[in-house]
Amino acid sequence: MKNFVYNGLPARVIFGAGTLSTLAGVVSDLGCRRALLLSTAVQSEQLHPLRQLLGPAAVGAFTEAAMHTPVEVSERAVFMARAVQADCVIALGGGSTIGLAKAIALRTDLPQIVVPTTYAGSEMTPILGQTEGGRKTTQRTLKVLPEAVIYDVDLTLSLPPAISATSGLNAIAHAVEGLYAKDGNPIVSLMAEEGIRALAHALPGVIDDPGNRSARSDALYGAWLCGAVLGTAGMALHHKLCHTLGGSFDLPHAETHSVILPHATHYNAAAAPEAMDRLARALRVTGDPAGALFDLGARLGAPSSLRALGLSESSLPRAADLAAENPYWNPRPVERDAILALLRAAWSGERPAGDHGPHYAGRPA
Ligand code: NAD
Repeated sequence: MKNFVYNGLPARVIFGAGTLSTLAGVVSDLGCRRALLLSTAVQSEQLHPLRQLLGPAAVGAFTEAAMHTPVEVSERAVFMARAVQADCVIALGGGSTIGLAKAIALRTDLPQIVVPTTYAGSEMTPILGQTEGGRKTTQRTLKVLPEAVIYDVDLTLSLPPAISATSGLNAIAHAVEGLYAKDGNPIVSLMAEEGIRALAHALPGVIDDPGNRSARSDALYGAWLCGAVLGTAGMALHHKLCHTLGGSFDLPHAETHSVILPHATHYNAAAAPEAMDRLARALRVTGDPAGALFDLGARLGAPSSLRALGLSESSLPRAADLAAENPYWNPRPVERDAILALLRAAWSGERPAGDHGPHYAGRPA
C-alpha cells in the first residue's frame, strides 16, 4: 500500500430514526443554553418540534436562509444571534440553511448543531460558499465545521422526490470525485464506495415511495458518507464544472450536479481505472459506470441536460473557457476542446459514450 495522510474531522454524529429527541442533551453537552434556530421559510413549520424539545433554551428563530448563502442574509442573522444573546445555532434543513449556520459561525465562533434534511452533505465539511454582489467565493476553514450533526430519518420523509433525486446525485458526485482525488486514500475510498452503494440502491425506493423509511435511512447513511468524503478529499473536474455553471450562468446547484456527473465521470474514466472499478462495484455493473450513472439519473427522473436547465447553447464555449482556466487538479488533463465536447454532450442530454473521453475497459468480471 502507498503512504497516505488521512485528516479526520472532529464532529459528533448521531444517526437514526427519532434522534431529534437527543437535541436538548446535545445542546447542553456543548455547554450551551441559548439556541438560535435556523431554517428556510419553506421549512419554518418544521422548527416547532425543536421549540418543544428545547423549551426556554430556544431563544429565537431566523427563517430566511437562502440558496448560495448571500452575505446580507448572514449579516442579518448574526445581528439577530447577538440581539437574543445566542450561545449556539441549530440549523434544520439542507445545504442552504447549513451554509447560513456556517456563515454565522465564521463571524461569531458560535458552535453549530446541524439537523440535515437533504442529502447534499454540507454538514460534514469545513467548506463555506458565500455570495456577495452576485459573486460566489468559497473557503475551507475548521471554524465552519459543525460541532454536532443529528441525522434523523423522520425529518427527510417530507423531502420532495425531485429534490431527493438531485441532492442524492449531488452526494454521489462528492464520492465519485473522492475515489480519484489527488489526496485520496484507502479510508476515503471505503467511505466513497459504501456511500455510493447505499445511495444508488436506496434512491429508486425513495422516488417510488417517499415515505419508505428503510430506503430513506439507507439514503441518509450514504449521504453522510459522501459528505464526509467531500469534507476530507479535494474535488476535481466535476465540481469545477458545476461551480462554473452555477457561479457564472446561475444554474441550479443540485440539478447541475445531476446533469454533469455522468459526463465528468466519462471524461476521467480511462485516467482513473481503479476508481472506475470501485464505482462499477458500488453501482453493481460490470460495464461503463458513467453510463450507469446516466441511467440512474433517468430512473430517478432527474434532469439530464443543461438545455433543460435553461442554459443557451451559445454559452457553451464561454463555459469551456472558464472551466479550463485555473482548473482544479484532475486525473486527466483538462483540455479546453475536450471540455467543450463534454459540455455539448451534457447540453443535449446524450448518454455519455462520445469521443470526449478515452474508453474505460470495464471492471474485471
Ligand atoms: P437547499 O438547502 O437549498 O434545499 C432546497 C429546498 O428544499 C429548500 O427550500 C429547503 O427548505 C427544502 N427542503 C430541504 N429539506 C426538506 C425536507 N426534508 N422537507 C421539505 N423541504 C425541504 O438544497 P441543498 O441541495 O441541500 O443545498 C444546496 C446548497 O448547499 C447550495 O448553495 C450548495 O452550494 C450548498 N452546499 C454546500 C456544501 C459545502 O460543503 N459547503 C456541500 C453541498 C452543498
